[in-house]
Amino acid sequence: MHVHPPHLDPATIAAIAQERAHVAHNYEPLPIVIASGEGAWVTDIEGRRYLDCLAGYSALNFGHSHPDLLEAARAQLTDLTLTSRAFYNDQLGPFAAALANLAGKQLVLPMNTGAEAVETGIKVARAWAYRVKGVPAGEASIIVAHGNFHGRTTTIVGFSDDADARDDFGPFTPGFTAVPFGDAEALAAAITPNTAAVLIEPIQGEAGVVIPPAGYLRRVRELCTEHNVLFIADEIQTGLGRTGHTFACDREDVVPDLYLLGKALGGGIVPVSAVVGDAAVLGVLQPGQHGSTFGGNPLAAAVGHRVVQLLELGTVQERARILGERLEAGLAGLVGNGATAVRVAGLWAGIDIDPRLGTGRHISELLLARGVLVKDTHGQTIRLAPPLVIRASELAWALEQVQLVIDDELARIRDGLPHTHGLG
Ligand SMILES: *Cc1c(COP(=O)(O)O)cnc(C)c1O
Repeated sequence: MHVHPPHLDPATIAAIAQERAHVAHNYEPLPIVIASGEGAWVTDIEGRRYLDCLAGYSALNFGHSHPDLLEAARAQLTDLTLTSRAFYNDQLGPFAAALANLAGKQLVLPMNTGAEAVETGIKVARAWAYRVKGVPAGEASIIVAHGNFHGRTTTIVGFSDDADARDDFGPFTPGFTAVPFGDAEALAAAITPNTAAVLIEPIQGEAGVVIPPAGYLRRVRELCTEHNVLFIADEIQTGLGRTGHTFACDREDVVPDLYLLGKALGGGIVPVSAVVGDAAVLGVLQPGQHGSTFGGNPLAAAVGHRVVQLLELGTVQERARILGERLEAGLAGLVGNGATAVRVAGLWAGIDIDPRLGTGRHISELLLARGVLVKDTHGQTIRLAPPLVIRASELAWALEQVQLVIDDELARIRDGLPHTHGLG
């Protein structure tokens, strides 16, 4: 198990100890206690600055404390924050209109967290299957991909194949079939007359930025259309600029039936998620059949609306595309030299660390010591996902730190030396 290095400052040690004493251990954070953030940078309680190359798993695509988003939130805080949808509020309509327009769809169903958007997509797909497609009652099934990550509810973890995510949380919801990600023919073979939907991430984020073969999304779209099956794209992590496009489906000019959005939709300020689709699909829900106390609240809608306005400009998408090319160029040399594989899509990279160097966690700790925040996933992989507002010089500096850490580790192995501690 990870131990905090003994030379951490007393205030940091105390803060970590308090959190560990009183917060359930469902996470294993890196040993840094963050107190403030601006743009791509955060500052810890000791006043040390770090470049945030995780960006809240893409919830912080616009960086910390984005001035426009803060302004939208502040203005709304003093006017109205919550009504419940028992009443109309003056923010939800404009937000939904803008978001629907951004996605080229008719309707928005607002929720709060990503998992709720996924649950909503599942409910809508099932209701559509029974009410529109004519699937016999109780028989609807949804095809998902191996290696998926769609959130943490009991239904969702039931179709995960990550043991940590699912073990001891059953019994699970039936009605899901998993096929290999990126294999369109396996998907085609799994479709039956009772298939309601295909639910996939266009790029699997939590799995380590796993990019399907070119043409896969287009083939998924064709298969879904051909068999009258809904294509549900979980764009909670891939969407809203990360890959250099508004949606990762745009990489193949593909339009799913439902977009599931979250994370960056809340501007890093409040949880905002949504299901976006046409009336022919989302219209199956009638009053009383689905809801959320906080979904569509005016504060969330005001922030979400400003997020959409920023995306309408296209500048963050363009930054992600251009900086993504630099990211890709900067990481290319690592393959065979400290990494076994590197995958890049826009300003988003998964780096599989050569096991001889140690785990992804070990490399994350070494990067922390150099002032760069990243997070490991699935043991050997580290994910780089800086805010899309990061400057070119800051990205270059982060890439330098990655190179230095890996070079140090390669030299250590050449010299036959054991691991230093991450913060040594
Ligand atoms: C983060 C994530 C979710 C879950 O979002 P939460 O807000 O944590 O519930 C679902 N799908 C994908 C692809 C995600 O990355």
